[in-house]
Amino acid sequence: MAPSALSAADVRSVLARAMESTAVLAPVRRGRSSFAFQWIADPAEAVFSYPRTILPPKQALLPPREDLFVFQRAPEPAVRPPAAPDPITLFGVHPCDLAAIGQLDWAMQERHGICDPNYAARRAHTTIIGLECLPDEYCFCPSVGTAHTRAGADLFLTPVGEEFVAEALTEKGEALLASAGEKRAPSAEARDTWEHWAEDKESRVSRRLKAQPKELPDLLEAEYESEVWEATAARCYSCGTCTSVCPTCFCFDVEDVVEVGLASGARRRQYDSCQFLEFASVAGGHNFRGERPDRVRHRWFRKFVHLNREYGDAFCVGCGRCTKFCTADIGLVEVLNSIVEASE
Ligand code: SF4
Ligand code: SF4
Repeated sequence: MAPSALSAADVRSVLARAMESTAVLAPVRRGRSSFAFQWIADPAEAVFSYPRTILPPKQALLPPREDLFVFQRAPEPAVRPPAAPDPITLFGVHPCDLAAIGQLDWAMQERHGICDPNYAARRAHTTIIGLECLPDEYCFCPSVGTAHTRAGADLFLTPVGEEFVAEALTEKGEALLASAGEKRAPSAEARDTWEHWAEDKESRVSRRLKAQPKELPDLLEAEYESEVWEATAARCYSCGTCTSVCPTCFCFDVEDVVEVGLASGARRRQYDSCQFLEFASVAGGHNFRGERPDRVRHRWFRKFVHLNREYGDAFCVGCGRCTKFCTADIGLVEVLNSIVEASE
């Protein structure tokens, strides 16, 4: 479908239309320079330009904490699944976060032939409006091939000057676009900027991996005993911030929470982190990653070796969150590049 031109007011009309039938999660400003995805009550709350949010839109599809089912003992034993999810719209999703949703779809719906019903139900009721962006010093999306992702979006917007170039990628996207009123073709100038966006974006990226994602499994395995892991662990606090903010991390813990009186309860899951000491504790008190260097190495091996081999690509979309928000200023790319250099 040919791209259309939308004004900022048109985009807010699209959001208003979406809000008539769905809850809308959109990036909003938090403080002076931070941004967060938040459920909005007014289209005016959404921002159209932001470098990255602290937490990714993953929270709408895989919440930090949720009840998988609730159970009761009285008046008669029963188990109830969660209520069917309400439809949602994710607005302003950058290409890297679109790619991350694609990776989560695989992890939660296809991996090992198992489909997580809670995730699948939410995903089936989700509409996504993507938003193009320009990289800052933390982004390395071209190194992992996600800089130009459109897959997963129903409607995709590229901000060009005061306007947006809009591409409807699905029927849902076409319906959203139609809600903005009569279609207009972008001006020749806007179209030119839009057509050159990809090369401009690539040229602005300063952080780059020194190896291809497909080379990393063998390369990292050969450096299993590298001193880089010890040196990185000496700076790491095991705080788990890096995994908490990551759009592709999907590890969770499950516990049964029983109410006082033992009449009812819930099976609850919540995010976990491979950087926590207890993460790999097993029955009998053994912890097979009880030392911090083991946990640090595991994070890189998980994303760039194990899941890379299973999924067929790095399980990282180059969003830069784990580096930007690391409490110890540890750079994911810098650690990888140290390993690449050590192997040369
Ligand atoms: S590992 Fe870091 S850069 Fe890669 S997707 Fe996760 S947060 Fe983003
Ligand atoms: S955010 Fe930084 S300090 Fe915290 S666990 Fe991750 S690498 Fe270590």
